[in-house]
Amino acid sequence: MLKNKCYCGNNKNINIVYNEKIRSGSYGNLTKKKHRILNCKKCDLTYLENPKEKFFYETSEYRKKFNNSSTIKTHHKLHEDRLKKKIFKIGEKKFKKKKVIDVGAGAGTFLNIIKKHSSQTIAIEPASFWHNYLKKKHLTFSYADDLIKKNIKADIVVSFDVIEHIDDPIKFLKDIKNILNKNGVAYIATPNYNDILMNLIPNTFSQFNFRTAHTLYFNEKSIKFFLKKAGIKKYKINYYHEMDFSNLLVWLKDKKPSGLNKLKIFNDSFEKFYISYLEKKKLSSHLWVEIKR
Ligand SMILES: [Zn+2]
Repeated sequence: MLKNKCYCGNNKNINIVYNEKIRSGSYGNLTKKKHRILNCKKCDLTYLENPKEKFFYETSEYRKKFNNSSTIKTHHKLHEDRLKKKIFKIGEKKFKKKKVIDVGAGAGTFLNIIKKHSSQTIAIEPASFWHNYLKKKHLTFSYADDLIKKNIKADIVVSFDVIEHIDDPIKFLKDIKNILNKNGVAYIATPNYNDILMNLIPNTFSQFNFRTAHTLYFNEKSIKFFLKKAGIKKYKINYYHEMDFSNLLVWLKDKKPSGLNKLKIFNDSFEKFYISYLEKKKLSSHLWVEIKR
């Protein structure tokens, strides 16, 4: 039996679910050594053993990619469509005259889009090399603790694709609750470990899905466990699928990622049906958590 403590505190019944090379950076780049991915029977969290790149966003490799304003523009473009879909899911009107915090704001792409509706935009971003860009448009902090000390709260808190990088998910969730106004709502999206591709082609998809940058791999059971541990009682677990049917077929056909609309066979109504079906079946790419104070 493994003597490896899970993030929930349990150190019994920890199983190895994967012990191969994992992704390091973009598709096609693998680690030199094998890495173990573990699963805790108690909370059902799956996690990377001994993560070395805990703060990937603070590494010089990552920083080098964004050393001038044209690459910042490219960065915004790259993320804009995905974020607009998430804003659509929340409902654009919800941001009207609201104070909004983005936890793990990156270059502020999300906050830039909703700034015109909201009354104030606040970025929390630990990677300080983004701060010069962020400060031009948003109130900017490194950590949630900085806001908690000043008693700054917001009506809407979002955190997209961040919690899977975190080494203290309980504190992370507590912090989110603590920066929410009384009637506020927080939206957290994180990859769903029970994604359709992990179900259909676990061997092929695992080498892509498991990556040095992601420490934690949540499913519904484990995210609920951590929400409870963080003292969060009012929450809803929903599902959110980011990829299309074309992407699924290319994975099955060529065993590799293709991005969106690669096959150009399926129309919007077909894709909408596929996506809502996966979300209903809880097989989507992401878990979508809504938290109230
Ligand atoms: Zn656990």
